Amino acid sequence: MKLLDGKATSDQIKAEIKEKVQAIKASGGRAPHLAAVLVGNNGASLTYVNAKVKACEEVGFESSLIRLPEDITEADLLAKIEELNQSTDLDGYIVQLPLPKHIHEHKVTEAIAPSKDVDGFHPANLGKMVLNLPTFLPATPYGILQLLEKNGIDTAGKHCVVMGRSHIVGSPMSILMGRNTNPGNATVTMVHSRTKNLKELTLQADILIVAIGKPEFVTADMVKEGAVVVDVGIHRIDDATRKSGFRLLGDVKFDEVAPKCSYISPVPGGVGPMTIVALLSNTLLARTLQS
Ligand code: NAP
Repeated sequence: MKLLDGKATSDQIKAEIKEKVQAIKASGGRAPHLAAVLVGNNGASLTYVNAKVKACEEVGFESSLIRLPEDITEADLLAKIEELNQSTDLDGYIVQLPLPKHIHEHKVTEAIAPSKDVDGFHPANLGKMVLNLPTFLPATPYGILQLLEKNGIDTAGKHCVVMGRSHIVGSPMSILMGRNTNPGNATVTMVHSRTKNLKELTLQADILIVAIGKPEFVTADMVKEGAVVVDVGIHRIDDATRKSGFRLLGDVKFDEVAPKCSYISPVPGGVGPMTIVALLSNTLLARTLQS
């Protein structure tokens, strides 16, 4: 069994991005600039946003963190988004999800200018993804593609089972794995909470990508010998023995599944750092397209 080490792979990609930023600056250009909008005080969201800002600093990007109050009206948030759309010194921005319940997420996603939508959630960018046109790919699935590619995983002709059909992970992932690209060219099955013969299908997977949001749901009896397993899930579980007071688990029961795998991504240190690096890749692309 080999680890799909997202930390090491993302460090390698960050070094490549840093070199490109240095080249832009050396030729008189300005560094890419990413902004992150955070509404409210959700602890996990703040952690994710801070990690994104820190990653920007590591590769030489400009970054801005825009914090807005939990009770901001939808109209005021949309006005802020319009301001960011018009900004000429910003290449891309993200609005960290989830948003407070009184704000319609889809209205916000659709208000972001597609040219600055480095999370790749705007319908125009998702449409381009389906058509295999150049665009910003959704950060988590894009990060997983890069994790597979950089670790030399052959996906062509393989049976890939994607567990979960969310708009941000499972659905785009299943489309990307089936496109005529590398990575891609897999035969894809997507399963969800209404799937009846779940285990029968997961046992057929050469590549199993799990994004269901259920801690340690995937057990060894659900995985084929030699499979590649990518675990997207992240769960904070209280743990009084840890200094932090919690530990992180994935959607896969790592200890018992790992011995059956040819490759498996750990949690933490797997998909998480790759999602951040995919966001950086998209921001660099936005900078390149705007200059
Ligand atoms: P989500 O929106 O809750 O979607 C979960 C999907 O899993 C749904 O499509 C659901 O089916 C399906 N599902 C739930 N229970 C199932 C079961 N027993 N069998 C088969 N399918 C089942 O979740 P998400 O946003 O995609 O996130 C999934 C996990 O990844 C979460 O733990 C999240 O925290 C994590 N995540 C990590 C990153 C990262 O950077 N590492 C990024 C994004 C998300 P239905 O559609 O039928 O309800």
